[in-house]
Amino acid sequence: MVMDSIVLVALFAAPGEVAGSALDIEVRQPIDKQKAEEIIEWVEATADTVKLVYGRFPNKKARIVVIPSTRNSWGGNAAVSFGQVTRSGGEKVELYVNPDRPIEEFYADWTATHEFSHLMLPLLRQRYRWISEGFASYYQNVLMSRSGRYEPEMAWQRLSEGFARGRESRPELTLNEASSNGIREARMKVYWSGAAIALLADVELRQRSGGKESLDTVLDQLQSCCLPSKTLWTGPDLFRKLDSFLESPVFMPLYRQHANSKGFPDVIPVLNALGVVKTRSRVRFENDKPLAQLRSEIAGRR
Ligand SMILES: [Zn+2]
Repeated sequence: MVMDSIVLVALFAAPGEVAGSALDIEVRQPIDKQKAEEIIEWVEATADTVKLVYGRFPNKKARIVVIPSTRNSWGGNAAVSFGQVTRSGGEKVELYVNPDRPIEEFYADWTATHEFSHLMLPLLRQRYRWISEGFASYYQNVLMSRSGRYEPEMAWQRLSEGFARGRESRPELTLNEASSNGIREARMKVYWSGAAIALLADVELRQRSGGKESLDTVLDQLQSCCLPSKTLWTGPDLFRKLDSFLESPVFMPLYRQHANSKGFPDVIPVLNALGVVKTRSRVRFENDKPLAQLRSEIAGRR
């Protein structure tokens, strides 16, 4: 064990009001005082962007723990190399950071946005991990764009590239199989198939309600009724609950169509209708497409 994993003293705890939540932010040592303050500001600002979904942070009592880690694991030399949510004894988000990287790189990094987005859903059984990872991967891009940290083109580019990687990953497995214990090399399928389902649901909700309903509004209702939750949910538990907020279901039909099917949800027609057109290396927007307006409703700057 190296020193920095032993010395775990909270020198810069900052219980503060962020997006209506009393976030308990702890920065572990060694990180110098000035950088620790900058990092706390970054955590608060990033937690604040999550309120661009439904006006508040999903858990009023979440703990955020920032852990210095300069070892070249996971994200190599990235500002934020790894993050995870743990839920025993209350929800806690751990962010492993390289304090030597400039603070601007923290703001450009999506890891914290992804981890905070996990708090919008309850803990799901392993088999349904494509839903938790997928919704977090969808919102990490949507929120980076809504908050102005990405240009909208970048968000759609990353979604589009993610879907392409997901499509190539273990096409012989169903979504539930790909997420099950012991399955290897299905990470891209797990992350991006769920993001594809999030996009399909979001577009259908917005389209059929003329913008009154969306994935945001449904998750708002989920938080009000059920989060944070101490129980372990299944995919159908969650999707039935989301449908219970709607006059006619969107989520269980998507579940029935895709969860136990091989291959990858077909998002290309929806991307085309949104005017997200893939050229050789970049996506390009076409504003004469039928759902082009929804693009900015989903990921436009707020
Ligand atoms: Zn995740």
